Amino acid sequence: MTEGKRRKIWGIEQDVLDMINEAAKDTYPDEFLATLRAEKGIVTEILLLPGTLSGEHSGTFHLHMLPIDLSVVGTVHSHPSFSNMPSEADISLFGRFGNTHIITCIPFDKRSWKAYDYNGDEIELEVV
Ligand SMILES: [Zn+2]
Repeated sequence: MTEGKRRKIWGIEQDVLDMINEAAKDTYPDEFLATLRAEKGIVTEILLLPGTLSGEHSGTFHLHMLPIDLSVVGTVHSHPSFSNMPSEADISLFGRFGNTHIITCIPFDKRSWKAYDYNGDEIELEVV
């Protein structure tokens, strides 16, 4: 059980965070949505989903469009507001897919993001 408690995903590359915040700025005032890919416990890439809706804050991932890819570990989206707290819709999305979820908010900088698990509980991700 101890082994199970250790988070499989423990870090994220600085470049990926920068990319997320850039994409969030570009997409503003709509929401930016993507999935996260990881290698050896570190988030190394974001993967945009074709057909993803944006603009309506309701966890609008098209789950059936997700690639069958075990390196996809969770999701990232932006909030066009000053809150990076997950909404109820976000938490229900988190519970359906993956265990590492990032939300970034205005002003989309190094301090504006937070990471959550499938329950919507905040988790620590080390920036590497
Ligand atoms: Zn949200």
